[in-house]
Amino acid sequence: MKPLRISELLATEAKEQEITVYGWVRTFRNNQFIALNDGSTNNNLQVVVDFQNMAEAELKRITTGAAIRAQGILIPSLGKGQTVELKAKTIDIIGDSDAEKYPLQPKKHSLEFLREIAHLRFRTNTFGSVFRLRNSLAFAVHQFFQQKGFLYMHTPIITSSDAEGAGEMFRVTNLDLNKLPKNETGQIDFAQDFFGKSTNLTVSGQLEGELAAMAFGNIYTFGPTFRAENSNTARHLAEFWMIEPEMAFCDLQGNMALAQEMLQYVIGHVLDNNKEDLEFLNTRLAEEEKQKPQQERSEWSLLEKLQFCLDSDFVRLSYTEAIDILRESNHNKKKKFQYLVDKWGVDLQSEHERYLVEKHFKKPVILYNYPKEIKAFYMRQNEDGKTVAAMDILFPGIGEIVGGSQREERLDLLETRMKEMGIHAEDLNWYLDTRRFGSCPHAGFGLGFERLVLFVTGMTNIRDVIPFPRTPKNCEF
Ligand code: ATP
Ligand code: MN
Repeated sequence: MKPLRISELLATEAKEQEITVYGWVRTFRNNQFIALNDGSTNNNLQVVVDFQNMAEAELKRITTGAAIRAQGILIPSLGKGQTVELKAKTIDIIGDSDAEKYPLQPKKHSLEFLREIAHLRFRTNTFGSVFRLRNSLAFAVHQFFQQKGFLYMHTPIITSSDAEGAGEMFRVTNLDLNKLPKNETGQIDFAQDFFGKSTNLTVSGQLEGELAAMAFGNIYTFGPTFRAENSNTARHLAEFWMIEPEMAFCDLQGNMALAQEMLQYVIGHVLDNNKEDLEFLNTRLAEEEKQKPQQERSEWSLLEKLQFCLDSDFVRLSYTEAIDILRESNHNKKKKFQYLVDKWGVDLQSEHERYLVEKHFKKPVILYNYPKEIKAFYMRQNEDGKTVAAMDILFPGIGEIVGGSQREERLDLLETRMKEMGIHAEDLNWYLDTRRFGSCPHAGFGLGFERLVLFVTGMTNIRDVIPFPRTPKNCEF
């Protein structure tokens, strides 16, 4: 008899059929009712134990956290809250769980506490929903690109290049740190290191993605990315997953259109396929919001927010227009920003981004054409000589979710910009080759996968949407 998943069982009609299920005990009441969960849904299967015909010693082993197999007959349920239940003939304890020592008691635990026992938090309703949604979003990302004919490209994780300029990188080495080899000038001799040069973990697959786009047309990456961000925020991880499409023969407008289409596609996918988990998180968030003072509460529920993002066009706003709005805002005039907006050219802080999205437009916003001084060397220079064809997508409650640009495809302009920014052309010869041989306009962006999961689940800390978060001074499990 093929064991069924509880999500399937709960959707079947009970016709006294024999079934087998496996799962973990959430609770055991009155020596009779097991709430059994197998991770396929937050809804538990009620298993009714024939306690009169079961040995006392065996009954005692049905404890919270124990792994069991239950065999019996699926019958319509008389109890409230479920349509079917399992009238068990046999219960086999597969793995005991000492109820006294089991850290997950059947009560509400704080997210902070659950983070400390991240190896067990998958077994809670909140994290069950979060990680089923994460799975669904990852699937939808691939489905979106595959349907559009994009090629999935694996870019390297260990790299000797630095896409954004120095800093923020984790070094990769197998040199003996207690006996570092030095060269004549007293510096560490990386020629003796594993790769014969200094290497790091990648901060972005973009540069290699561009190489592939110059042959396949449209590609995307979806892989781990590492940044030694020393800022302990609720939106930054040291290890996160990034999705980076790159498109040949595409400009900034096409890039923005693709980003919006993709975000709406994946949000639509989970609204269609993960209703139950979204409803659970919707309720969870609503309860959390009730704890907050009135003026800090969100105007929208999670489901409303997702539906709204799906239905509305994102606002497209140039950096220059954004500065004007911010400068003229009452918020700025009343000095409510920590960083006042006084002149063109300043980098926008997250308080400014959130003001635009949450207060001014109340919609996702795509900001584009940023001052070249605050952006990377590879972004395409605009006619005005001051701005580059960059774009950031800002989401309510999240801030930046996507960062992208049209790339500089003109060799001479790219080389000049690199020189101005102190980037050595010799190190990036391979990259410049694409501009030498069959260069073409192209564009792409990076979407932080965890920021997307944050948005979709309504969780507030990025540490709660990746199974095992890596942040400063924290690398458990
Ligand atoms: P931020 O200003 O929020 O630090 P960034 O400008 O450094 O972002 P990009 O270099 O453009 O970000 O990276 C592309 C995307 O990767 C961002 O839009 C964001 O979604 C995500 N991202 C960047 N840094 C992190 C991080 N440390 N943890 C999780 N996601 C990140
Ligand atoms: Mn950053």
